[in-house]
Amino acid sequence: MRTPMVAGNWKLNGSRESAVALASEIAASAQDDMTSKVDVVVCPVSVHLGDVSTALNGAAVKLGAQNAGAEEEGAFTGEVSASMLAEYGCEYVIIGHSERRSLFGDTNASCAARHKAVAAAGLTPVFCVGETLDDREAGNTMAVVESQLQAVFDVCGDNGFASAVVAYEPVWAIGTGKTATPEQAQEVHANIRELVAARDPQTASALRILYGGSMKPDNAADLIGKPDIDGGLIGGAALKSADFLAICQAAAAQA
Ligand code: PEP
Repeated sequence: MRTPMVAGNWKLNGSRESAVALASEIAASAQDDMTSKVDVVVCPVSVHLGDVSTALNGAAVKLGAQNAGAEEEGAFTGEVSASMLAEYGCEYVIIGHSERRSLFGDTNASCAARHKAVAAAGLTPVFCVGETLDDREAGNTMAVVESQLQAVFDVCGDNGFASAVVAYEPVWAIGTGKTATPEQAQEVHANIRELVAARDPQTASALRILYGGSMKPDNAADLIGKPDIDGGLIGGAALKSADFLAICQAAAAQA
């Protein structure tokens, strides 16, 4: 049985003050009956991790980061290493978000290297995959997703997702208000699980595969109700504690 997970990707939003306020609201409302059933994770910008960690105040809400470098230390200006994130209590790191890929030049190979570094530091990579609208319309969804996963197999081996989470995030659904239907999402999630199973069946059956792309309180239950959808990676709706918590509740109700 896979524990559902709901992770809020706060992206480049907020101030120290608003990040602390949001974290405090979530920590105050995420009661044991929710956090015992769902892994609830918040991912603020790196410079807010310390303040957010303090604001979570020992609540069962977990901390994640939005990216990590592939290198441990050295002359890599602007990077933050996974072990540095771990010092702030981070347990999860989002890797390969489509905004990183499309805006900052992250490639399949560099995402895989970051994934490997995060896992080596004992943190859990949340490895994002997903197709653009052009890819989907050309019938290339699974070819694109497979090439993104393949990069991790190339760098980390057949069990490269053994202590990881995958997030399927169709690019056309991120921040657009367009959500994949539960059936569209389930089809890709099941295919991802099969691809991982072909390498390592045990990893595949334990692997949590989150859906991301305009998940909201009103569509979360239908998406998370599908057999291969193990939770959500939430952007816009994660910035309002009530909406984020409603999605967490929807996941808890399925657990
Ligand atoms: C995301 O950016 O990971 C995301 C899923 O965003 P949104 O929920 O706003 O579509």
